[in-house]
Amino acid sequence: MPAATEYKFFEAVEKSFDKAAAFTNWDKGILEQIKQCNSVYRMNFPVKIGDQIEVIKAYRVQHSQHKSPSKGGIRFSLSVNLDEVMALSALMTYKCAIVNVPFGGAKGGICIDPKKYTPYELEKITRRYTSELIKKNFIGPGTDVPAPDYGTGEREMSWILDTYTSLRPGEVDALACVTGKPVSQGGVRGRREATGLGVYFGIREVCSMERLMNKIGLPTGVAGKRVIVQGLGNVGYHAAKFFREGGAKLIALAEYEGAIFNPEGLNEEEVFQYRKKTGSILNYPGAKNFEQSTDALEIECDILIPAALENVVNQENAPRIKAKIIGEAANGPLTPEADEIFIQKGILVVPDMYLNAGGVTVSYFEWLKNLSHVRHGRMEKRFTENMNTRILNQIENLTGKKVSKTEKDFILHGADEVDIVNSGLEETMITATREIIDCWFSNDKIPDMRTAAYIVAINKVATSYAELGIFP
Ligand code: GLU
Repeated sequence: MPAATEYKFFEAVEKSFDKAAAFTNWDKGILEQIKQCNSVYRMNFPVKIGDQIEVIKAYRVQHSQHKSPSKGGIRFSLSVNLDEVMALSALMTYKCAIVNVPFGGAKGGICIDPKKYTPYELEKITRRYTSELIKKNFIGPGTDVPAPDYGTGEREMSWILDTYTSLRPGEVDALACVTGKPVSQGGVRGRREATGLGVYFGIREVCSMERLMNKIGLPTGVAGKRVIVQGLGNVGYHAAKFFREGGAKLIALAEYEGAIFNPEGLNEEEVFQYRKKTGSILNYPGAKNFEQSTDALEIECDILIPAALENVVNQENAPRIKAKIIGEAANGPLTPEADEIFIQKGILVVPDMYLNAGGVTVSYFEWLKNLSHVRHGRMEKRFTENMNTRILNQIENLTGKKVSKTEKDFILHGADEVDIVNSGLEETMITATREIIDCWFSNDKIPDMRTAAYIVAINKVATSYAELGIFP
């Protein structure tokens, strides 16, 4: 695999963009404006680690501001560089547009290996990074709202929130300056599993489409399909869980240290616990080992879910991939060269910037919750339950029949926050899938689903720019 610095990720995104833009009639200037990163902030700041001073390199890129705030995660990884952050911020613009989340695109990153630091040191780095963002107005509920990404999670988000609120006292909407927070700090229920669940909803919708499944020679439905998940982080773990619960068979799971394979099916939670205990996924009882994590990508399966980092499927290994569907849970796991190979091989690639949009969709619900200062469902839950009780009582009295206890509990239940969030996510993913597929099938020259997704995104962003009146 080429080193991240050799791989020009932003160029790859531009390439996909240009391929799609050719199918639209937008003015060249508008297309050029959409493609560019609007604001790029590169910073170096000192942090005392032990008795040494370390100079930390970090970035925040706002790719677009046609909608405010701009939105996107913050990544902690040694592979973070300007090219990567620019590419990921561009993907956020298109992702938000496709799922109708009214944000511009952004992304941030700190070039560190988080495993090398104590929590105290990580906290110092995160807080300093946040204060750098505040200084330049690169964070705020109405300007730019970070979230978790590779190497970060709820803990880092609460440090960001705390730094922000202490430097901006009295800001009534301050909770909305970052999403992916713990529930106790203004987070929303369902955010943690959102990206994985969105991946599942998206693939489930794709698999329900007879015309698409006929194209790749698979029966409809997720149940019974053989699935491989590469990367058992937050996204991969939850995607694996929802696929298994949906009746699919997890035949292989991969992590840094290698991969395991069992054609009878694996349970992601048991594997996760095993790895926690032994420090490795390898030698899992009843499974075959693959020393190289990337070997798992080449096992025959129906659905392959790369859920780790970019560029894992490229020119070199793409010819050996035997999956029928590739669902990009990670951002940018396939290079444009791999895309071309899969078009030739008739493999269906379900693209990242729509498939992994569940995270930002639920971030949007969290942001709305923070701005409205009320938990989703609080105002109507009881009302619904009281109303449902009356309706059911009436039906039982009129018919003289009683429904079972399980059925009764289900019917009476008023929506909790997590029910509302999950249903909003399900609706979002289904609508986006249908929109992209309709676009794809509207023109038989559109080569793949990624191009169709980009066309949908470009049309939405361009309309928004045009309606802003920026371009006379
Ligand atoms: N980091 C996630 C992504 O790449 C979530 C972004 C967000 O919630 O703002 O989509």
